[in-house]
Formats: sequence, C-alpha cells, structure tokens
Amino acid sequence: MRRLSMATVILKPDREESLKRRHPWIFSGAIERVEGAVQPGDTVDVCDHSGRFWARGALSTASQIAVRIWTFDRQESIDWDFFRDRLTRAIQARDFSAGDAVRLVYGESDGLPGIIIDRYADYLVGQFLSAGAEVWRETIVELLNELLPCKGIYERSDSAVRLKEGLQERTGLLRGEEPPPRVRVKSGPYLYWADIREGHKTGFYLDQRQNRQKLSAYVPDREVLDCFGYTGGFTVAALSAGARHVTYLDSSAVAAELARQNCILNGLDDGSVEFQEGNAFDVLRRFVDEGRRFDVIILDPPKFAGSKSDLKRAGRAYKDINLQACKLLEKGGILATFSCSQHVTPDLFQKILSYAALDAGREIQILEWLQQASDHPVSLFFPESHYLKGLICRVW
Ligand code: SAH
Repeated sequence: MRRLSMATVILKPDREESLKRRHPWIFSGAIERVEGAVQPGDTVDVCDHSGRFWARGALSTASQIAVRIWTFDRQESIDWDFFRDRLTRAIQARDFSAGDAVRLVYGESDGLPGIIIDRYADYLVGQFLSAGAEVWRETIVELLNELLPCKGIYERSDSAVRLKEGLQERTGLLRGEEPPPRVRVKSGPYLYWADIREGHKTGFYLDQRQNRQKLSAYVPDREVLDCFGYTGGFTVAALSAGARHVTYLDSSAVAAELARQNCILNGLDDGSVEFQEGNAFDVLRRFVDEGRRFDVIILDPPKFAGSKSDLKRAGRAYKDINLQACKLLEKGGILATFSCSQHVTPDLFQKILSYAALDAGREIQILEWLQQASDHPVSLFFPESHYLKGLICRVW
C-alpha cells in the first residue's frame, strides 16, 4: 500500500480559481513550490498561497498537467477504500441492458483521472494514462477482479498521452486468461467482433453506440455511404434497419475484413453491402466525378486535431470531407457527421459544416445534435470530457 499524502503543493497567489470550480487539473505554471519529497504519481495535498487546503491529487513530475485531483475532501484519504468507492460508484451507474460492451470508468468524469476501464463481454480492458493511475494500477486491477469477476483483464495503455507523463506505452495481460483475437460483444441491439489486443482504442468505438441506433431511423430503404467505417459499426446498424444498400469505406484492409465478419455475425450477408478500401479524401472526390449519389452519408473520421496547434489543418480536413459529402447527397439527403477532436468545439464544428455546405452550393439544416454515448458521461466541471460531437443534418 502506498504511503499517505506526504508532500504539499503550494500554488502561486490566486491560482486556486480552477479548484473552486472543481476542475481536476493543475498546470505546472500554477505551482509555486512542492514541499516534501515526491516521486511521480505520489499523492499530494494542494494548498493555496496562504496554506489553505483545496484538494488532494496525484503529482506528475513530467507532464504540464502537474496534478490530477483525486478528491476535494480533506477527510478522504487516497487508498484501497477510496478506489473501491469510486470504482463501485462508476460501475453501478452503468446500464448493462445496453449490451456487454460498456465503458465502466471514464477517467476524470468518474472521479478517476487517467483511468479508463471498458468491459467487453467476459473481459475487462484498462488504460492507465497518468502517473497517478500508474501508481494505483495494481490496486485497481485487484479491485476490478473482486468487483466484477471476469475471464481476464487486459491492458491497452498504448496511448501517446503516456509519453507526456514520462511513461512508456504498454500492453499485455494483467489478470486471468489472455483474450482471444476476437471477442463477441453486444453493443445496443447489434453484435460485433471486437479485437481487444490490436483494435483501435480499447478494441471498439463504444462511444458511438447510441448514435448508431439514432441513425437507423433515417436509413430504411435508403442508399447509404458509411465513410470511415472501421469494423462496420454503422454499416451493421444501417443494414439491420433495412437500408437498401450500404457502401462501406475505410483505408484499413484489416478493419474492412472485420466489418465483413461483423455483417455475417448479424446475419447480414446478403450482398447489399459493398466494401471499398481507400483514402476517403480521394474516394469521395472520385465518387463526385463519377456522379454517384447517396441518400444518407455517415462521416466518422479519426481525430484530425490532436492539439490546438492542429486546428487549422484539421478544420480544412473536416471541411473537405463534408464538402464532398454535401455534393454526393441527393436533395433532402441525410448527413451524419462527427468530430472526435476535443479541441474542435461544437460551435467551430458547426461553422466548418456551414462553410462546407456553402461551398457545395447546398442548403443544410440540423435535425439532431449527438454526442458520445452515456457510458462516457461529460462532467460539467471538466468540459474537456466532451469530445465526440455529431450532427444529423438534412441537405437540400
Ligand atoms: N465509424 C467507426 C469508427 C471510425 S474510426 C465505428 O463506428 O466504429 C476512424 C476510421 O477511419 C478508422 O477505421 C481508420 O482506419 C479510418 N481512416 C483513417 N484515415 C482514413 C482515410 N484517410 N480514409 C479512409 N479511412 C480512414
């Protein structure tokens, strides 16, 4: 067991404002000094310049995010019971009727900064993304083993975020049995194969669960393009809902193969889907040149803006694909367009989309605003936890 809080972080004058608003990060520039000996990930008390206690968190000596807050309650010590309480609260809040592929712990939003735990049927997958999370990794694995008995717990801490924390990327088995290459899961009403060991993120895009269902209302008897399809999340949903035909597009052959398998898994192996491999920026243009038309287009690209400095380039990329999509839609067609870049705000995303429609010479209306699934809750004290934005639009 780790020792109790030994060191204290003293903030510069007037730098406790964000803590009053319960924001869980302290940037290194706000710190005046650290009193006491510390190692990365150690628990520290955070006090303002006059020495008043505000919070208790994990120190990261490498990252610009110098402290991630565990608690604002002075009485709460950071130990086995603390993690037991937080994990229990997060798990109990999840809706398991929505399937067996569920995010159980969503970092800061669940009061557990740097910690992601996903469930894929009989397996759990963990990401430990901060110095503090790294220190408590064994405790969390033990607790998960106790709270949610499963066949195996696998680590997917292969995120570049760890490098900023002075940690290496790491993957591997933490407890129990090694997961098979493909795990069968239920996400909403659909079945999917998820690749826990090699797939994106922790194996699947759990965050689109509810949006796949929402979109299914627009597709019956329609000609659909699922652009950036990955393992066919939206393709399966669209075909299940009675789309006349789906064109799936992705640059990854491995993803396309799993998408094909996912269609078969749902009994959708009926020739009404065409798998295209290629770069969306080129293929969409080619479709325009060929005069192809779709009734519904889904655009779910990877994160184009990893940081604020990427915003300009990312903005151009989002505009480009949305512009091509507007050109490809039939009059009155549906565009379901997403951005998972946290730095692209909903306002900015809307602006980009309006410029895309303008350049395409099309009118556009928003029918629905979408966001990440409810097992990725957004903490109002931590707006950064809102990253996935989606709009269902009608394009005239
Ligand atoms: N819609 C998917 C998730 C998409 S993730 C779902 O519901 O699960 C983004 C996908 O975009 C990845 O599969 C990646 O291979 C693909 N991709 C990235 N860049 C691309 C490009 N330039 N052209 C086509 N696909 C691309």
